Amino acid sequence: MSKVFVTGASGFIAQHIVKQLLDSDYEVVGTVRSKDKGEKLSSFFGGKFTYEIVPNMIDKGAFDLALKNHQDVKYLLHTASPFFYDTTDPENDLVIPAIKGTENILKSIQTFGSQIERVVVTSSDAAIYSDVDEQNGSLSMDETSWNNITYEEAIKNPIAAYYGAKSFAEKLAWKFVETEPVSFKLAVVNPVYVFGPQVNPQDAKGKLNTSNELIGSLLSLKDDSFDTDKGGFVDVRDVAKAHLAAMVQKEAVNKRLFMTGGKFSTQMLLDILNKHFPELKLPKGKVGNGPAEIATLAKTNNDKTKAIVKFEFTPLEKIVVDTVSQILY
Ligand code: NDP
Repeated sequence: MSKVFVTGASGFIAQHIVKQLLDSDYEVVGTVRSKDKGEKLSSFFGGKFTYEIVPNMIDKGAFDLALKNHQDVKYLLHTASPFFYDTTDPENDLVIPAIKGTENILKSIQTFGSQIERVVVTSSDAAIYSDVDEQNGSLSMDETSWNNITYEEAIKNPIAAYYGAKSFAEKLAWKFVETEPVSFKLAVVNPVYVFGPQVNPQDAKGKLNTSNELIGSLLSLKDDSFDTDKGGFVDVRDVAKAHLAAMVQKEAVNKRLFMTGGKFSTQMLLDILNKHFPELKLPKGKVGNGPAEIATLAKTNNDKTKAIVKFEFTPLEKIVVDTVSQILY
């Protein structure tokens, strides 16, 4: 039974990764920021899950002790990174933690994890295009694309900061394996907006994680004057599966897995909600207008990723129904 180290184990995506690892008979050690969070996960996941406390991954040597305590770890998945837009200090809240967290985990592996065979970094589609280019229908993006956000642009507002942070951190990881003597191989997962149910149903009853909140916020819409969001969608269970593939498959080494199941707009989400949850009596918007709305987004191609992960991506309708059923009932 191999041991896997997962940073940010309390996160929305990470909990699905932990669950799938445990279901596949791996032992898991996760990092969490507090004892409370660790105990909650331990009692939910049971004995094959243990945790280490890393209060803030920007601290020098933040992961050293945790890795030193587990010198039998074979695979390491670095998912921890701040994902929210509600900040007045995007540099310190988003950019620096993403960069420092990635640098610190890689340095700790170099010193205390020379037995680790594979490292998977959770990046994002935000590293693939900027928030502006994502909305530009004349552009095409795939596993080789990068946003060109500079540090100066990134620290100006939370959205640019998140997009910049993800590309700075991912580039740092690729440069690290190119220039430093390391014994592990690297693979990266780049998901678009991740929706889906929580592993622990309790987590669907309180404040939702940033991406699911996009769906959650629609449940209290009062009229047709809503802002339209649009972008890529992918199911959280598929994203977790992709992390396990990136961890063990040799085809994934040195690859970016661009995890997108298709595109959505707010109208498409509303149409699904009105079909499956008529009792909510949500506004109708412009029924059926979704495909026209998403036609203006940058084109995306993830054929190389699909050839590696080799599974069918979950359709939007099922993702939304599963997510909302858990929130409501
Ligand atoms: P969550 O906010 O649910 O999880 C983020 C995790 O990172 C939490 O465990 C959080 O701990 C931890 N973390 C944040 N800052 C620090 C810090 N300074 N020190 C230590 N731990 C920290 O987000 P998701 O699960 O949605 O995201 C997980 C990863 O996936 C991130 O790298 C994100 O960028 C990426 N991603 C997410 C997408 C999405 O749509 N959800 C899309 C594309 C990529 P705590 O909660 O205790 O603060």
